[in-house]
Amino acid sequence: MTREEERRLPDAAGAAAVGGYVRARAAVAAAAGAPLRVEEVTVRAPGPGEVRVRLVACGICASDLHVWRTGEGIAFPAVLGHEAAGVIESLGPGVAGRAVGERVVLAWIPRCGRCRACRAGRTHLCAAMRTDAADGSLTLAGRTLGRYMGISGLAELVVVGERTAIPVPADLPLPTVCSVGCGVTTGFGAAVITGAVRWGESVAVFGCGGVGLSAIQGARIAGAARIVAVDPNRARLRLAGRLGATDLVGADDGDPVTAIQALTEGGVDLAIEAVGTGAAVRQAFDALAPGGRAVAVGLPRFTEEVRIPMIALLLDKSLRGSIHGSADPARDFPKLFACVRRGALDLEAMAGPDYPLERVNDAFAALAAGTAVRPRVVLAPDA
Ligand SMILES: [Zn+2]
Ligand SMILES: [Zn+2]
Repeated sequence: MTREEERRLPDAAGAAAVGGYVRARAAVAAAAGAPLRVEEVTVRAPGPGEVRVRLVACGICASDLHVWRTGEGIAFPAVLGHEAAGVIESLGPGVAGRAVGERVVLAWIPRCGRCRACRAGRTHLCAAMRTDAADGSLTLAGRTLGRYMGISGLAELVVVGERTAIPVPADLPLPTVCSVGCGVTTGFGAAVITGAVRWGESVAVFGCGGVGLSAIQGARIAGAARIVAVDPNRARLRLAGRLGATDLVGADDGDPVTAIQALTEGGVDLAIEAVGTGAAVRQAFDALAPGGRAVAVGLPRFTEEVRIPMIALLLDKSLRGSIHGSADPARDFPKLFACVRRGALDLEAMAGPDYPLERVNDAFAALAAGTAVRPRVVLAPDA
């Protein structure tokens, strides 16, 4: 499509009536570290099994910041953002049981239903998952844009597989629940599903960003007796205390492992690493009591490695990874929504401030500076 043909397309506001290619605004990352630019991009119609979603809000996750800075797992130009919620705007051929106007949060696990993992009920390991899905549905001046995690939440309109769009109850605001698409599920699930925390256990959480704070809330809801939060940022530690941590440890305030051992009779039953460094994984492992489980969930540089003392494995300690909290969005998002509704899971305490799309670079800067846990870009009013 030429630039002139693109200009003649209906804009996003007229999209519902036309259903074909439309224009929409999106924040485009041209290269690693380059400021994002709001551009008019072209969005194709949804194909078989797909829906097109008019996005309302998108949280900025630490992974967005990571790929924007490093270029790992993405090919530029690309549209970042993968914590998005919106309203179904049009349906592709053969999509049944869904409706235009349905409010949804997007889950970046495609859940293809056909791969070995999906057939085994482990949809979080779906083989169709791509960090950079350059599927041709978003283009700029004829050039295909990369779509981070197959979502590209920093766009007004996106095309996704219908299984990616999980329905949201009518009484929950979309900007509130968009974080369920990634960080909340990743952290909550790391504690409750991957880590299988049981009531009365002791838990340490390394890193109090959106993922770590969600792990703390998951551990609290599951009945953990002791929850130790570790982070260098004092404001984040205070927030961790409000959300369920029983003990707060400054990551740069002496050796956090020694502090945790002193607080928990020698170590915790479950340690969650939500930092993304080998050093933090090692600390999580070292903080375990005999028989303890460590779960690594932070996104590292691709070259990052971790060393652990082999002798400690003989004490029945384990270390495992976790993606998307080992959750199945169709099964688990409704449970998380129920926790939000009864006030047990506080998403707004972690969210904001809100930015219009034009100020997307300010949202990234706030996350980078650690002044915000989950800055949000608001793309449209929540209908
Ligand atoms: Zn699959
Ligand atoms: Zn994320």
